[in-house]
Formats: sequence, C-alpha cells, structure tokens
Amino acid sequence: MKNRCGIWIIGILLIVGVAGGVAAPRVRHWWTAPPAGYCPFCHRHEHKESVVKIRAEGEEVSEACCLACALTYGRQTSKAITVISVTDHNSGQAIDPNGATFVVGSDVSPCLHADRLVGAEGETSAVQWDRCLPSILAFATRQAAETFHAQHGGRLQSLREATGAAVVGGLGKG
Ligand SMILES: [Zn+2]
Repeated sequence: MKNRCGIWIIGILLIVGVAGGVAAPRVRHWWTAPPAGYCPFCHRHEHKESVVKIRAEGEEVSEACCLACALTYGRQTSKAITVISVTDHNSGQAIDPNGATFVVGSDVSPCLHADRLVGAEGETSAVQWDRCLPSILAFATRQAAETFHAQHGGRLQSLREATGAAVVGGLGKG
C-alpha cells in the first residue's frame, strides 16, 4: 500500500513537471510580450502603414513596427531575418515583399515623432541614430514608389537591396 502511494506521487509529480515545462515558456512569452499594437523589439506603437511580419532565425513569426527596426534586431542578435510580409504604405494592405518597391531614407519616418531632439534650453540637435532609421517604406507598385520618392526623397530599392544580401525575403520563397 505504501509503495503504491509512492508510485502515485511520483506519477503525479512527473505529470505536473511535464505540464509545467510545456506551459512555462508560454506563460513567460505572454508575460513579457508587449501589448497588441506595440512593437516587440522597440516597444513603440505600431503604425499601420509600416508594419512588417518577420521571423528571426529560431524564433516565432512576429510583427514589427517597421522593416528598419526588424533589421536592427537582426544585426543586434546576429540572427537572419526572414521578411514574410510588408505593408503597402499607400493602402495599409499587407503585400509580398518580393514584389514590393521600397523607398529607403525618405523624410517620412512613421516610428519617429520628430527628426530633431529638443534639449532643456530649447536647443535642437539632429537625430544621429535610431533603430527605425533610415525609414524603409514599401509600395505595391514601382510607380507609387516613384511618386512618393519625388515628394519625399530617399532611394528606390528592391527587397534585396533594402535588407542586404544576408537576409532571405518573402513567403517561404528563397
Ligand atoms: Zn520597432
């Protein structure tokens, strides 16, 4: 009888242990993840015209505020970033990054509220570095990108040019 009790206790402890081991990372992920609508990498509010879906090497798919922020994360962690979808800046629709045209380094940066920092004395200085700069905005057509480029500057680039050769782009295609 005593032995049987012991086996039961070991069995229950095993089940609790396995269940705990399975649940713990999920609870941790839920606890540490930013609220919906906030970028998990910079904790800034996501803007619907620049949101991207990416997967960092060895991680789950996540939504980032913009492509520049996701690429900064890849550099900081030395992880390859797979770009799954980007947002057409004009329509706010998710599009395939392989078919998109990107405008890099224009004067529009949805993640930044100001391009100048204001000090205590009211003096201003330009922003030298930000993880969301230079801004990388996606357009569904090259013509739309050219129109935007004419108004806001920057450089027209393909996914490969905008993200660097080390990054694989798009919806499971190479
Ligand atoms: Zn971000």
